[in-house]
Amino acid sequence: MPRPSRFGRSCWKGISDSCREAATRDLIARRSAVLSGQQPQAVVLGCSDSRIPLTQIFDQDLGELFEVRTVGNVVDAVGMGSIEYALVHLPVRVLIILGHERCGIVEGRRIRR
Ligand SMILES: [Zn+2]
Repeated sequence: MPRPSRFGRSCWKGISDSCREAATRDLIARRSAVLSGQQPQAVVLGCSDSRIPLTQIFDQDLGELFEVRTVGNVVDAVGMGSIEYALVHLPVRVLIILGHERCGIVEGRRIRR
């Protein structure tokens, strides 16, 4: 088993043993449930910003959102291919494009002008 990084060990110390065990149990059960395939209801194009966790924002679990994340929601050919894949091959019904305030790339562009 690979050793967790120093950052991972530091984060892990902040979680109590009982919470860690419950979270691990839930994650293992959920991962087992989605092993046979994903059935996301939505594609979400969101920013890569680490402060914008799409699954948590929409209160969803593993397998429930197909996420495409790029800096500033700027989509290139690879990102568009990912969105097209989801729309063609997965049972998604909604495409959500989620911008956010204080986006680093948007703020950076504004400062340079
Ligand atoms: Zn952003």
